[in-house]
This record gives sequence, C-alpha cells and structure tokens, in this order.
Amino acid sequence: MKSIRYLAFLWISTLLACSNPEQPAEIKAPQTPQQTSKQTQIDHAKDYHSFANPDVVKVSHIDLDLTADFDKQQLIGTATLTYQKVDEQGKTLILDTRGLTILEVNSGNTPVAFELQKEVPNLGSALHITLPEQGNQVSISYHTSKDASGAQWLTPEQTAGKQYPFLFTQAQAVHARSFIPLQDSPQVRVTYTATIRTPKELLAVMSAANDPVTPRDGVYEFNMPQPIPSYLIALAIGDLHFKPMGERTGVYAEPSILDAAASEFEDTESMLEATEKTYGPYSWDRYDLLILPPSFPFGGMENPRLSFITPTVIAGDKSLVSLIAHELAHSWSGNTVTNATWRDLWLNEGFTTYLTYRIMEMIYGTDRYNMEAVLGYQDLQADIAALPENDEILAIDLRGRNPDDVFSNIPYEKGALFLREIEQKVGRDNFDKFLLEYFNHFAFKSITTDQFVSYLDQTLLTTYADVLDKERIHQWIFEPGIPDGAPMPESDAFSKVDTVRDAWLEGSLSAKQINTQDWTVHQWLYFLNNMPQKLNDMQLVELDSTFQLTASKNNEIAHSWLLIAVKNEYKPAYERLYSYLVGIGRNKLVKPLYRELAKTVEGKAFAKRAFEEAKPGYHPLTVHVNQGFVE
Ligand SMILES: [Zn+2]
Repeated sequence: MKSIRYLAFLWISTLLACSNPEQPAEIKAPQTPQQTSKQTQIDHAKDYHSFANPDVVKVSHIDLDLTADFDKQQLIGTATLTYQKVDEQGKTLILDTRGLTILEVNSGNTPVAFELQKEVPNLGSALHITLPEQGNQVSISYHTSKDASGAQWLTPEQTAGKQYPFLFTQAQAVHARSFIPLQDSPQVRVTYTATIRTPKELLAVMSAANDPVTPRDGVYEFNMPQPIPSYLIALAIGDLHFKPMGERTGVYAEPSILDAAASEFEDTESMLEATEKTYGPYSWDRYDLLILPPSFPFGGMENPRLSFITPTVIAGDKSLVSLIAHELAHSWSGNTVTNATWRDLWLNEGFTTYLTYRIMEMIYGTDRYNMEAVLGYQDLQADIAALPENDEILAIDLRGRNPDDVFSNIPYEKGALFLREIEQKVGRDNFDKFLLEYFNHFAFKSITTDQFVSYLDQTLLTTYADVLDKERIHQWIFEPGIPDGAPMPESDAFSKVDTVRDAWLEGSLSAKQINTQDWTVHQWLYFLNNMPQKLNDMQLVELDSTFQLTASKNNEIAHSWLLIAVKNEYKPAYERLYSYLVGIGRNKLVKPLYRELAKTVEGKAFAKRAFEEAKPGYHPLTVHVNQGFVE
C-alpha cells in the first residue's frame, strides 16, 4: 500500500486495544530499543491482531455469495468456509469479525452453534463456531454494518460521473473482517470464489480473475485460484468501464476519466515486462488497474490482478506513476512473498519500495531514479525526526496497538535504504539474483522477519562474508534510526535547484529569472519542499504570480504549495485550499494540511468548515485520522 501517514493520532485509542483474546490486553510502557532487540517476550510467529486459531483449524478456501444493497449500504449474503483441522482434537473454529450481524451458521442444511464474543477496540469480535461432526465446511449468513471500517459506500454525487453510486473495499491491515467473517491474518492464505449481485447498470470487479467483456447483467462471478492473505480480498462496484493498455494490462474506471487514466498509465505493460526480466515471471495472469473516486484514502492498494489506484496521480505527464510501479512491484514482494504479521510489514513495503525505484529507473532512467530516491530519503528523515525511537524500528513491536500505526516511512523508505546498502556492498547483479531466488524460495508463503534473517544468513551473509556483517544487519532491522554510513541518495538535477533557490532567497535572482522550463515535477516538489518555514508576503506573491502555483493542476505540487500557504497564512490560496480539502480524501495529501491549519485558532476554524463539508464524502479512515485536528 502506498502511502499513508497517520500515527500519533491513533496512539491513544490503540493503547486500549487487546492484542489477542488468549492473551488479555496489556498496557505496556513503551519498550526501550534494547528490550525490543532482545525480543524476549514476543512470539514472532504469532499474529497479535487476529482472534483466529489457524494452529487448530485452518480455513483454506472461501465461497462468497453477496448482494450489494446500495439503499441500506450493506453487503448481505453468505460466506462458505472450507477448513482443515490442524489439531485433530480441535472443536472450535475461531474467526475475526467487526460490526457484522451473524444471522445463522450451517453445515449443509444443519444449523451449527456459534457465539459472537464481546467487541474489542481495533480488533472487532471473535466468532466462535462449534465444528460439526462431519464435513469440512461451514456456511455463515450475515450482513455488514453501514459503517463497516473496510467499505465505503458513495452516493452518485460523490463519484466522477454523478449518476451512479459506488462501493469499494479496503481490507489492509485488519478490515477484511468488517465485510467477511474469516481468519483475518496475513499468515492464513485462502483461495476464493464469489458471486456478487449488484444493480443491473453497475459492474463489479474483484482482486480475482476479471473478465473485461463480461455482460453487464448485475450478477458477476469471480475466481481467485492462487492462495492470498485476507487483506488482499477486494471488491469494487460502480459505473466502471474497461480500456486495454497492453496485452496483459488494462484499466477500469468511470467513463469520464477512463481515457485520461489509460494514457497516464500506458507504460504499465513495459513496467511489467521489465520487472519480469529481472525478478522472474509475473505469477498472477492479468495486471489491471482500477481508478477509484478521489475519496480513496490511500495512493494505491496492491489487490492482486487489480490494483486500486487514487485518481490524484492522473497528472497528465506521467510524473506520479511511481505509484503504479509500487503497486505492480507488490505482485512479487507482498502478494507472492507476504509478511506473516504486521510487525513484519517492512518485508512487504521495504522490498516493494526498493523495487519501485529500480522499476522507475528501468523505464525512465537514472535521473528520475535519483530524484525519487532523494525525495523518499527526505520523507524518511522527516519521520525519523518526528517519531519516537520504538517506531523507527523495522521489526516494530505492535502488540496492543492498531496495526494501521505501522504505516510510516520506516517500513517503506528505511526498508528500501537497507536493501540499497546490501545492493551496494554485494553488487547490483548479485543482489538481483538474490532477490529472484528469495521470491522463488518463499513464493506463496507468509514469512516473519526472523525467517528472512535466517535466510539471509544462509545465503548472502555466507557468500559475501567479506563485505556483509551480521551485526550491521541486526542494527538495520532491530534498532531505531538510520545506521551511520548508510547510503545517501543524491541527484544532480536537485543540486541545480538548490543553487537557484538559494539565490532567489538571497535576492540575487528574481523568480522570473529562474529557468524552470525543463523542470520536472520532482524538481518543483524539491524546490517547494525545501523552502524555509517562513517566507514574506512579497516572496509568496512573487512565487505565485510567476509560477501560478495556487492554480497548479498537479495534486502533489498543489499540496506542497498549499502547505507553504498555510504556514505563512497566504490568503489568496485559501479558496483553492478549501476546494482541495473538500475534493480529495487521500490522507497523504490532506492530513498535513489539516495538521498545519490546526496550529492557529483561525486556521482551525477554517479547517473545521472544510472538514464538515468534506466529511460525508471522506472514507471512514480519513475521517478517523483527521477529525482530531478540527475538534
Ligand atoms: Zn505498498
């Protein structure tokens, strides 16, 4: 997933969370890095964010039959779970649910006893099902709640076309349980089929085999034959149409943005081929994109065969398509080799971020690779400056916390920087060979950090004992901060920007004299993001009138400029700021603006007005993450 930045706000509520029903809630003082590095108490193989008991009974397949009721804003139907007993004495199947109404549980035509446990904050309610004497399936009739944390129901007005409603799900990290009763842990992999019933004029798509030319008749059948973790089960329903981009790639979107999306992302097929050349065959048949309405709270979500993508990266110049490289890269790191628990998220995101840079270099060249790596490094530095030490550790201790807390730049950029260091030490070709073997070795498995470390021990650490050492690896994974002597990305294109920014700030160069004709979006972002906190009115007016920043159509540039406007209370940009906050629900873009606005009384009142107007269209996560700033 890419990319969200909400942390501290969730902290208080998550302290109250129970980590596991078998291990009652503990409110722990934050551990020191030393304690964490010793890992005396954590059971590394245990998923502290699931009630499920896959060590006793493991679900391997799910058949869904669901009706999307847009009036009630509910999914209604059955989930039939096929399971195997791991422990022959096992009598109870324990599932995760959140906000679900369980109507009945059957084995064939025979009712089966079940009990929905009390709700635990962040985790939901365990569903205990007494296993029938015979058979290996139970069928659960249920419906979701209107405010399911993993589903957003949009009215027609909240879509691009304004004519039809829209539904999309977002299961990562632990939200699948809010729309399917299941073992909601990344270490339980399932295959699935689904029958999805919708209003006739709408199309349903899933993280499964999608038929681009399926008749639009309101009943859609899906099959996902490869076993996937629950957080990758995904569904969207709307006025969706398809346009092919290449032999194996295409895009689903509302009609009004379909052509723009297909041309923005036309390099997807080349990205797919380039990645296969270096890291081995793509395992998932087709690779399509689904463009969601602007309320999608994330950049993208790597749902297999069908990545979910924010429309805010359709910039008209392919400047923000690293997001596509990122979601595509997850087909190898994340979807094929999966983190076993949320503590191990860096195995998904660090590897994927590393691969993203590499794919961008293969398609767009070394200058772009360098620029994007510097911007990523600056994001990492900002998080290191802001986060408590325990949250700077790759293998983070998340017991008792909301797993959504782990999504900072640490698993992404620190993870990627760690791999970049290994690459530099052993050589790029050797490291690529290692990655190819690693993806094959653990294909369709969910692994822990410790399994990775021991694999590294047996492979690279043995072969390259002269350049790699165990202690250094340990420091990267189990200690906070960035180790001394880590690689530091640099870009010549950015050095030139530093020179002119300095000259402009000193007054020796006017804005008009800056030659920005050949600047890329990345250079603009670097130019703006590294301005001093305070600029004077003349400087703000000069920048805006020369470069039309308030009117920028690029959502990232607009974001960087609006942040400067808020810090300096530059009022001519506030009308745009208001419509930006109301029109976009992607947290990476709106959260920093709310946070900055909340620092003054006047700013907070402005933020509150925008938030109240935007709220009906925001995703539950966006509401949750930002409402603290306006209260
Ligand atoms: Zn990701």
